[in-house]
Amino acid sequence: MTSVPPNTEEEKKIIRRAYRGLLRSIKSKMDGKDKEDVRKAYELAVDAHSKQRRKSGEPYILHPIEVARICAAEIGLGPTAVISALLHDVVEDTDITLKQIEEQFGAKIAMIVDGLTKFKNLDALSPQAENFKKVLSTLAKDVRVVLIKMADRLHNMRTLGSMPRHKQLKIASETNYIYAPLAHRLGLYNMKTEFQDLVMKILEPENFQFVKHKLKETKRDRNQYINEFLKPLEQKLNTIGMPYRISGRPKSISSIYNKIKTKGVAFEEIYDLFAIRIIVDVPIPREKEICWKVYTIVTETNIPIPERLKDWITTPKGNGYESLHTTVIGPQGRYVEVQIRSERMHEIAEKGFAAHWKYKGVKQNSFDVFSDWLDSIREILENPVGDAVEFLNDFRTNLYKEEIYVFTPRGDKRVLPKGATALDFAFGIHTEVGYHCKSVKVNNILVPLGTVLNNGDQVQVITNKAQKPSEGWLKFVVTGKARSKIRSSMKEERRKKGELGKEELMRKMKNIKADFELNADMLVKHLGFTNRPDLYYAIFKEELNAQQALKAFRVEGGRLFLIEDDKPEPEIPAKTPAPAKTRRRRDFKGKPELMIDNKPAAQFKHSLATCCHPVQGDPVFAYVTAMGEAKIHRHTCPNAEHLMANYAYRMMKAEWVDSGNTDFLANLLITGIDGRGVAQKITGIITMDLKLDMRSISMDGNQGFFQGRIGIVVKNRDQLQLAIQTLKNLDGVHSVIRED
Ligand code: MN
Repeated sequence: MTSVPPNTEEEKKIIRRAYRGLLRSIKSKMDGKDKEDVRKAYELAVDAHSKQRRKSGEPYILHPIEVARICAAEIGLGPTAVISALLHDVVEDTDITLKQIEEQFGAKIAMIVDGLTKFKNLDALSPQAENFKKVLSTLAKDVRVVLIKMADRLHNMRTLGSMPRHKQLKIASETNYIYAPLAHRLGLYNMKTEFQDLVMKILEPENFQFVKHKLKETKRDRNQYINEFLKPLEQKLNTIGMPYRISGRPKSISSIYNKIKTKGVAFEEIYDLFAIRIIVDVPIPREKEICWKVYTIVTETNIPIPERLKDWITTPKGNGYESLHTTVIGPQGRYVEVQIRSERMHEIAEKGFAAHWKYKGVKQNSFDVFSDWLDSIREILENPVGDAVEFLNDFRTNLYKEEIYVFTPRGDKRVLPKGATALDFAFGIHTEVGYHCKSVKVNNILVPLGTVLNNGDQVQVITNKAQKPSEGWLKFVVTGKARSKIRSSMKEERRKKGELGKEELMRKMKNIKADFELNADMLVKHLGFTNRPDLYYAIFKEELNAQQALKAFRVEGGRLFLIEDDKPEPEIPAKTPAPAKTRRRRDFKGKPELMIDNKPAAQFKHSLATCCHPVQGDPVFAYVTAMGEAKIHRHTCPNAEHLMANYAYRMMKAEWVDSGNTDFLANLLITGIDGRGVAQKITGIITMDLKLDMRSISMDGNQGFFQGRIGIVVKNRDQLQLAIQTLKNLDGVHSVIRED
């Protein structure tokens, strides 16, 4: 944004046209006051930004107008959001103060604009995680802050072309890290998809163009196929006597590419390049009935794959999404995904959170999912301890999770993220229940605390006052709430025990007449710790012998001096990795495997940082570079603090886990034409030719088609790829896909 000559007549025309476009896009009812306020906000913004231009050279005011339009047209927000969006940059960039906004537009709008201004500072790369935490507290107060910020980000991403490359990378990786997951969580599917595509276009331009080109190339075939699929359906759908519409849109470029990457298949082999969507226009009370009627018609015409039936109507997703999904075998034996929903469900799927406001109260339950979620954010935020980086990581992992429903012994429904454990449930009930959780019964059977819960489980927690959290508990939980509560309890515990370590150190120092305060920080550094409590705790745990450590020093006037430094020692360079004795390693039975974000590191482009040379077993974290590579640093790396403070959003959890051995199990889904002895042929190839162990096999045949699931044990990806390729070459095999 630069200061330049005032707008020309031509530009003023463009601005007025943009404003009229904005007014047309506002679908919600506006009274006289609303209309007047929108006008006032527009005029104020035009005036305030009149001397500013965007990087592209266009008048700056076009940006807030477009952000307001996105809020109205693409998210479905009303006048309050439109006014706030028009004003979202004025406090930050011009002379207008928050007070003036409050005087002219009231406290509510001032509060939203203030939240948006704080969001802006977040972009300035000041301590990221801290800031983000602040922003989330505004989210808990008024979700519109975040929705407007998303619209702002979307417009910036759409117009990223005129930015220098390094800024593009920064904005894109930040979008990928936090905005796309947030859009997902708020049910803004279109926006999430667009975010991901725009990010991919910048981070992986060649792959983006490749998929785009492929989609274009195959468009005619695809449309022909879709028509062939729809023809028999349409006749039957007409008999229901309800208006409906059908679309067959390809999936997004980034999601297609993701499949190519994670499943290791070629573009041509992705069977769900597109999904058919049937949207019925029915009154709310008849939604469910009609959707199932449509389902019946679809599955009478085509054979369904039972495991693929997803009923998000009976139990909507945590972000409010409702729809009926099924996959059927269409013409030529191809799998086709069909999504069935009502117009109302469709609007919610497209516009997410905002559409819920509209239907709030119309349909029971549909709004609660969000308030539950906001409650959980509030709860995490209220927890005063915990490092901001950990907080952000926890928060982020919870964004993408699907939900499951479980029940208390009294039959109350509780929502938990998929993958949540018995212990997560205990913490979900109440922090105290979590702390004192002794054992858990799932469906009346005692289970380990780390047991993953399933939809519909009935869970009962047995507590004992004497029980308290231990470090190991962190491995048993996935929810942000449980993690942060366990951490804060551990911290307290460590602090208490550390006091004993501290006393010991003080005693030992007193014995040699060294002053404690004068030397403590130097000792922390010298011994390779990041802070005093860590040092104290290590002494308490007897990982460090204080007396031994002090032998390296001589005392002069209460101060400690390294004896080594006394000797002339010119040839040793200062920059060597920290001495091995300060490295605290865990003991592993087998070969420890590096995990990033709880997934094997092999799934990421990664390397070990050269500044701190981590070795197997070191406490480490991952830092994602602008090029998307995960660099593994030690916790004690001299660069760590700086990285965490400034680029917290790029941090990912990394750890070495005991893998026992490096074999891993891969599940393959094989489809093809059912011929004699297909199963034998497949198993023969796996065990005889490839010499791999098989863990499981199941085969289903259905009218000439078969579908098999095989679990094989492989050493690495190459071996897996070879297996997939070999099986694919087999006569009659149609596809071989690795399942998650
Ligand atoms: Mn902006």
